[in-house]
Amino acid sequence: MVPEEDGRQDTETRPVVSAVDISREYTRGDANIFGRGTAPSVQALDGVSLSVRPGEVVGIAGPSGSGKSTLLHLLAALDIPSSGTVSLNGTATDQYGVRGRTKLRLEHVGIVFQRFHLLSSLTARSNVALPLVELGWPKADRRERAVELLEEVGLDTRTTHRPGELSGGEQQRIAIARSLSTEPALVVADEPTGELDSQASTRVLELLRRITAEDRAVVLASHDQQAIDACDRVLYLQDGQISERVV
Ligand code: ADP
Repeated sequence: MVPEEDGRQDTETRPVVSAVDISREYTRGDANIFGRGTAPSVQALDGVSLSVRPGEVVGIAGPSGSGKSTLLHLLAALDIPSSGTVSLNGTATDQYGVRGRTKLRLEHVGIVFQRFHLLSSLTARSNVALPLVELGWPKADRRERAVELLEEVGLDTRTTHRPGELSGGEQQRIAIARSLSTEPALVVADEPTGELDSQASTRVLELLRRITAEDRAVVLASHDQQAIDACDRVLYLQDGQISERVV
């Protein structure tokens, strides 16, 4: 491995995602309910920078309300910063409107949620194949890819099960398989173990580690110490800023 001190590693490997001095201010739409003349705003993120390299699992920790989900949404191009720049594989996310960002996400990002967000009426296989429908893949190819991914996450015996017939850990592994269907360079996961017991969490975290092969990166936000301990490095957020606290 190239020693990092000489800086060569930094210049040779383009970040999968980078954020430069990003802030996000929300305007509270419900302000008028309280009879205020002007809408008070919330500074959810304030001057955050980070750079994530291929192969890394980066954790975002911090108390509730510290800006973890906001940061993940910005990194995943679900939202754009009020100021500063997020670049996904070198492309600035704020140069696109909503449609352009949807395409950018389909090309570069897989998203995993705490509550899995699987469609209950669809089989595991169809859930995994869903992003490929948006990409216009033919049915036979979608099915083949979904089965491959279900094998990869150890659920090849569950391809025709529906989410309600599966455990929480299995559902999360299906959600991870779905996030990988478009071969994204970045997977963002918001509290991926939040609904799981320790054993299921261990499998999900092992899987998130395994998928960083092939130059992929994972950024996960979590309260769960087990998840944070499984990361290569951790950023601690406090009031929307990166804090020096060592986790
Ligand atoms: P965390 O994920 O660490 O709990 P969030 O990113 O969800 O933190 O929230 C950061 C801050 O921004 C909180 O004060 C929250 O209330 C506020 N916030 C988040 N989303 C919105 C929104 N859509 N509108 C207004 N305020 C928001």
